[in-house]
Amino acid sequence: MNNYQRKNQKTVESGESIFSSLETPLKDFSNIKIGGHAKYLFAPKTVEELEQIIRWSARKNLEFLPLGGCSNILFGNVANLVLILDKNLPKTLEAEDNFVIVSANYGINSFIEETKKYRLGGLEFLAGIPAHLGGTVFMNAGAFGKNILKFVKWIEIIDSEGKKKKISREKIDFSYRQTSIKGFIIRICFELENKTEAEISSEQKRIIRERQKRHPYDFPSLGSVFKNPPAQFAGKLIEECGLKGKKIGGAQISEKHANFIINRENARFEDVMKLIELCKETVFKMKNIRLEPEIRIINK
Ligand SMILES: Cc1cc2nc3c(=O)[nH]c(=O)nc-3n(C[C@H](O)[C@H](O)[C@H](O)COP(=O)(O)OP(=O)(O)OC[C@H]3O[C@@H](n4cnc5c(N)ncnc54)[C@H](O)[C@@H]3O)c2cc1C
Repeated sequence: MNNYQRKNQKTVESGESIFSSLETPLKDFSNIKIGGHAKYLFAPKTVEELEQIIRWSARKNLEFLPLGGCSNILFGNVANLVLILDKNLPKTLEAEDNFVIVSANYGINSFIEETKKYRLGGLEFLAGIPAHLGGTVFMNAGAFGKNILKFVKWIEIIDSEGKKKKISREKIDFSYRQTSIKGFIIRICFELENKTEAEISSEQKRIIRERQKRHPYDFPSLGSVFKNPPAQFAGKLIEECGLKGKKIGGAQISEKHANFIINRENARFEDVMKLIELCKETVFKMKNIRLEPEIRIINK
């Protein structure tokens, strides 16, 4: 353990074992770089440690929240939550025929790169997003008319009692950016498509070019803030209401894509929330359409 780690850890006694709780501020993990100190923030190194932390949370009557790439979470007050980062869990990947069983903490981009070597693809539509597989499956991430659940065969989770469970896709309800998944996803079995490495690489590049053209990659963000209402685009509605470029504190509605809120300079949770409320109110007043956040706002 180095000095940085020692300084940034405290221990929590569970009666059954002692866990190290990180004291690193959440902004260091959050893609939009917002978030203060959490009371309980863990980064277990083994699945057994993860199970123990979840059981400990249950005994303490505390809710736990899995954290992947933190590319879709806006952190507010998290005092009553047990936050569990997946980043130190073991990373595993096995491929056989078209099936790939992978640990949920794999980054989507590394996964696309790794499975390309087996000439397996299909998930290139998510290339370039700073997410982990567990988060993309939980959120049913999608883009360019595709979504990730279509490729999932089964998932393995740790449930709220700290027990492992396998769930087949047929048992998961999913729709636009939401699933019925409860628990901490630890492994996922994907069924991928046979593709050549050249096909996958060229699709990856095309998608990343598209994203860079449309989205503000030069400032921290959480991707699309609102879900697109049926037959509408949230970004277009916000732009038509004259809010593109609007700033509150250090946060701004992106001038490039109005459904992105960027952290321009030391933005705070409250700045982003005020912009979210402003978008909701204005779009409702001017268009009679209710915008619903796609991002997860954690403020307990
Ligand atoms: C630049 C940019 C572009 C983006 N483009 C897209 C896009 O094209 N399409 C799209 O759908 N999204 C997009 N997003 C949003 C985001 O990347 C996705 O929602 C992604 O699925 C979140 O994954 P994550 O690992 O970062 O999850 P996190 O942000 O860490 O968590 C999101 C939710 O998933 C839960 N979760 C995370 N890991 C697990 C786990 N192991 N088990 C159970 N629950 C878990 C969390 O508790 C939380 O509720 C974009 C974001 C950015 C910053």
